[in-house]
This record gives sequence, C-alpha cells and structure tokens, in this order.
Amino acid sequence: MKKLAFLIAFVGFFSCKEQPKETVETSIREVQKEEVKKPEETFGIAIHGGAGTILKKNMTPEKETAYKAKLEEAIKVGHAILKNGGTSMDAVQKTINVLEDSPLFNAGKGAVFTSKGTNEMDASIMDGNSLNAGAVAGVTTVKNPINLAREVMVNSPHVMLSGKGAEQFAKERDLELVNPSYFFTEDRMKSLERVKEVEKAKEANKTVAFYDSVIKDAKFGTVGCVALDIRGNLAAGTSTGGMTNKKWNRIGDSPIIGAGTYANNATCAVSSTGWGEYFIRGMVAYDISALVEYKGLSLKDATKEVIQKKLTKLGGTGGVVAIDSKGNVSMDFNTAGMYRATMNADGELTVGIYKDEE
Ligand code: ASP
Repeated sequence: MKKLAFLIAFVGFFSCKEQPKETVETSIREVQKEEVKKPEETFGIAIHGGAGTILKKNMTPEKETAYKAKLEEAIKVGHAILKNGGTSMDAVQKTINVLEDSPLFNAGKGAVFTSKGTNEMDASIMDGNSLNAGAVAGVTTVKNPINLAREVMVNSPHVMLSGKGAEQFAKERDLELVNPSYFFTEDRMKSLERVKEVEKAKEANKTVAFYDSVIKDAKFGTVGCVALDIRGNLAAGTSTGGMTNKKWNRIGDSPIIGAGTYANNATCAVSSTGWGEYFIRGMVAYDISALVEYKGLSLKDATKEVIQKKLTKLGGTGGVVAIDSKGNVSMDFNTAGMYRATMNADGELTVGIYKDEE
C-alpha cells in the first residue's frame, strides 16, 4: 500500500513538473525578451576639482596642463570601472582617490590649512540605489577621507562621524593613516599666510566684511565625482580640506548629505563645490534632486535654477557637477571657473577650467 502511494506521488510529482516546465520556459523567454529591450546600458561620469575665481590670466600654461592632465587621469580611472561593469560607488571612490592623492587639489594631500596650521578634512558619499550614505568631518590622519566616508556607510550604523571618533573608527577598520605632515604643501601654507595678512588688515580698519575675494578663493580644489553605472545606479561623492584659515572646527557643506553630496536613482547624483556656508543654507544638492523629482525639471534646468538663481541670490559662489539616471550631465557654476571633466559611455572626454569652455 505504502509502495503504491509512493508510486502515485512519484508519477504525480513528475507530471506536475511537466506542467510548469512550459510556464517556466515561457517566463524565462519573457525575462529574456524584457532583458533585451530594458537596460539602456548607458553609463557616465563627471568630476569637479573646485570652483572659484579661476582666470586664464592668472594661470601658467604648465599649471593648466597639470590640472587638466590630473582631471583626465582621475576620470579615466572611474570610466574604466564603469566600462567593465563596476559600480558607480566604486567609480566615485576610486576617482576621488586620484584627486585626493594629488597636491593640486584641496582634498587629501594638498588640503588647505586651518587658522592653527593644521589640516581638517571632510568627505561624504551617497549611493543612489539604497539612499544609504556615509560622511566624515574634521579628520586629520586619514589618507583618503572618502574611503572612511564609505566605511561609515557600509560598516557602521551611522551616517556621519567626526574628529577623534572618526579617526578611532578608521583605525578599527584598518584604513590607511598617515602623519598629519603628509598633507602639508608649500602652496597651501602660502595661502594661509596671505589670508591671515588680509584678516589682520581688516581687523585694523574694521570696515570690510570678513570674507573678501582673497579669503573666499583661498580654498580652490575641493573634489567631487558623480557616476551612473550600467545597472542604472547613481552615486555621488565629495572630499575637501574646507576653507583656508577656518576656525573652531568649522565644517562646510562637503560632508553634509543634501548640501555637498546627494544621489537618488529616481532623480540624479550631485556633488557641490564652493562657499560651504551658502551650500548648507541652500541645501543645494538635494534641492536640485527635488526639482527633478517634484517639479519634473530636466537636470540642466534644475542645476541652473539652484546655482544661477537661488545660490546667487543668497550671495553664495560655487558650482556643481550632476548626472541623471539617463546619463545626462550638467555642470553649472556662478564663478569664473570650475575644474571639471566628463566622460560618457562612448568614451568621449571633455575637460574644462574656465567659463564657456567645454
Ligand atoms: N565647499 C567647500 C567648503 O566650504 C569648499 C569648496 O568647495 O571650495 O568646505
């Protein structure tokens, strides 16, 4: 009896299996059909290396070539990752690493000095797929602050860590730590001295605002990257030394999610650079995303609205690089220049410094 029941169950099982087989095949065909037409398989990447009064007349040809070459080197690292099917998060992080390791930019090596002659760095990264994010502020010994920001996102329950605690976390996560002297550059020290002189002069006659152009512009070179990978995932990251002569553990917009960095697969990825206090008050990166999401604006119109109208009206200076889920890129700034570069899925590269240059 038991044997018979087993036999019936056995035959039943296979006839049942027969039945859905077709259904399974059909659904596989459907998936395949869908897979052929669905993914657009596009990708793209854009970077900035800071915005400000960058004028051709103040630039030597050697300096210009050096900046352009480093921007190109950095963006090609991210582009290769994306081309090989890597994630936008990896592309953003690795591209920023190249810029952090270069003394030309105000991030990692080459970070600007605080009023005490130290370097306090801020960074943040955001994954547009999960809306997860990580940020660090005021770190002094972490070689690549963007790596720590990503660690915070992936391996801590928090979004933002600062100062000593962030350094402790970096140690626990085995990140590369360096002696603070690693970040020293002669150029940035000269900038600090210049800004201090201007500040002293102002204190003496007390008639001019604290921030004049010397102070405002002695911070060029915050770095940022936005990327779209072939899975349609967006990511954004920003890394900086902040502003020359900053005091009281000042923190700018770069590590503030929504101000300096924002990414959402449904809209766009944005990285900001400029006078941080204004970018925080204007919630610049998120505002651009919100205009795309709620008002249906194109990325170009959204960045224009926020940078040329809102930020400018507030009195803020700077710019953004942004990319949307279709690979459209927008780079808007209200300063004389912004170090920038883009690369699309066809490998087309643009590198620019001044306005009206592509
Ligand atoms: N936004 C940065 C800050 O205020 C500086 C910059 O981007 O130039 O810290």
